[in-house]
Amino acid sequence: MSNKYSVDRRKFLQRSAVGLAIASTTHVTIASESKSAAQVKSAGDGIIDSEVDVLVVGGGTAGTIAAIQSGRAGARTLLLERNGQLGGTTTIGGVAFPGLFDAWGKQVIAGIGWELVSDTVELDGGTFPDFSKVPPRHWQNQVHVNPFVYAILAEEKCEKAGVQVAYYEFPESIRKTGDGWQVDCIGFGTRRRVMCKQIIDCTGGAEVVGMLGLPRLREDETQPGSMLFKIGEAHQPGREQLHRLYVHGADSTNSRTVTLANLTGRKVVLAKVRQAKGRLMHLQPETGFRESYRIVGETMVTHEDYVSGRLYDDAVSYAFYPVDLHTKTGVRPKPLKPGTVPTIPLGALVPKNSRNIIVAGRCVCSDRLANSGLRVQASCMGMGQAAGVAAALAAQKQTTPLAVPLAEIHQTLRAHGAIIPS
Ligand SMILES: Cc1cc2nc3c(=O)[nH]c(=O)nc-3n(C[C@H](O)[C@H](O)[C@H](O)COP(=O)(O)OP(=O)(O)OC[C@H]3O[C@@H](n4cnc5c(N)ncnc54)[C@H](O)[C@@H]3O)c2cc1C
Repeated sequence: MSNKYSVDRRKFLQRSAVGLAIASTTHVTIASESKSAAQVKSAGDGIIDSEVDVLVVGGGTAGTIAAIQSGRAGARTLLLERNGQLGGTTTIGGVAFPGLFDAWGKQVIAGIGWELVSDTVELDGGTFPDFSKVPPRHWQNQVHVNPFVYAILAEEKCEKAGVQVAYYEFPESIRKTGDGWQVDCIGFGTRRRVMCKQIIDCTGGAEVVGMLGLPRLREDETQPGSMLFKIGEAHQPGREQLHRLYVHGADSTNSRTVTLANLTGRKVVLAKVRQAKGRLMHLQPETGFRESYRIVGETMVTHEDYVSGRLYDDAVSYAFYPVDLHTKTGVRPKPLKPGTVPTIPLGALVPKNSRNIIVAGRCVCSDRLANSGLRVQASCMGMGQAAGVAAALAAQKQTTPLAVPLAEIHQTLRAHGAIIPS
């Protein structure tokens, strides 16, 4: 059976909610051999113009959730991702065991992140931890997800929310305009000019904030990254963790530093393969990065704030994880005291003295020890959802995220299933 497709490039790009396929300036006809085969159209060129309310940069752990939330809140949303799939460290890095959604016997983070995680587990026939129990070790309540299912479901949720996804693209320059930003982006064989009202920086290391010249924090020595792989038995995605090795000095800041981390990590894997009796059964395509830059925000979450479970007036999400700083010699997680559940203030997501930009993810404004607990995936998803709401409402009201009434942010978050600290 063959399906014939004939699509005008511009119309296709306007209509397509997820920019998975690009058609050329002339009409193209592609024949597909079977009903289930994917149809891929020919490559395009030239500059594309996108006018949106919210631009999310980075489709990783936090950014995917931010974009879905922004779209569901009614904002025209574009999601740029330099890689070729959604999920970031959760999928490309292979850290497919997000935590922690629960604390002390009850769920504290829900919303869109939890929806994506639980839909993934259900479709994959996996199992959930029993959140009503407090396990002896914190990682026992992390949820194993099949990263392949997770990434595709994330795309489906983006599409349904009206989010346009642009893979292999990233900002090259940014200029302030009267009511927002002009962001010139580059991909291979393509360029895009984005006019947007709000930016959500979910690049992990606050790369957009850096491009704008806003201050960021960084330690002289950062936590190691890790390369995830498996030698011996076949890997069972969604059922077990991969093997991992530290990549010291791993830095997510630019393509040169990411290349170096990948080359370094893979060399060690190769040495292990040569030593080992078993076969290399799995290797992630990219190093997982634990730490690079954090923003200087309106509010800084300190170690003391984190371990005391400070309840901020402008809290938008809970966070829960031990203080978990990896060093050259390893990690000794320091669990929080019973009953303690830290919170994340909106002010920690907003770069100081900025307008029309907000961040979510591991770059949240925090000192190093607080960040070692805040950086985990459930917390990043909670931040992503909050940033998505704040940016969408700010765009709607023609203001900046910090000027949106907090009660409206809370109300919208609740309406989309999130748990607000109280
Ligand atoms: C080895 C390891 C083990 C971990 N263990 C756990 C654990 O057990 N449990 C847990 O919950 N968390 C764990 N974490 C922490 C957690 O996975 C990360 O901190 C979290 O996923 C970071 O989310 P993020 O959204 O900030 O960044 P990411 O998920 O890394 O997303 C950033 C995204 O932005 C994209 N990007 C970057 N720059 C640009 C650009 N200029 N333009 C466009 N796109 C860009 C990247 O490609 C990526 O997709 C671990 C981390 C590592 C590395």
